[in-house]
Amino acid sequence: MRPPKPADPRRSALMAKVRQRGTAAELAVAAVLRAAGHAYRLNVRALPGSPDFANRTKKWAVFVHGCFWHRHPGCARTTTPKTNAAFWQAKFEANQRRDAAAVQSLRDAGFTVVIVWECETENAASLRAKLQRSLKRVA
Ligand SMILES: [Zn+2]
Repeated sequence: MRPPKPADPRRSALMAKVRQRGTAAELAVAAVLRAAGHAYRLNVRALPGSPDFANRTKKWAVFVHGCFWHRHPGCARTTTPKTNAAFWQAKFEANQRRDAAAVQSLRDAGFTVVIVWECETENAASLRAKLQRSLKRVA
């Protein structure tokens, strides 16, 4: 999925709040978790950052992050719009701060936290390998 290129930052900020659910990336992760026999709940609001997938008993959480909004380091999709650059910078920084705080809170609570970037979901084999590796401890 390509990042949106809206002209009006206020409108795009509004749209960013309407989080898409059931995106292709999330479906790919769900398929791998199911195939590996991991039980999970979706969009767990009771946990910091509302992880996309989590198992509170086994203490793991998986976030599926869009590369653009969540700033995947070194990723070609992590572009910055040239217009309203200050607005975007502030927005991205706020996202990153929120993400980091959620991960920290979960880890402090003993959770294994996995960040899956959107671009990583396009290769099923490597996605499977990553999730297997990351969730080995909690399986
Ligand atoms: Zn990426």
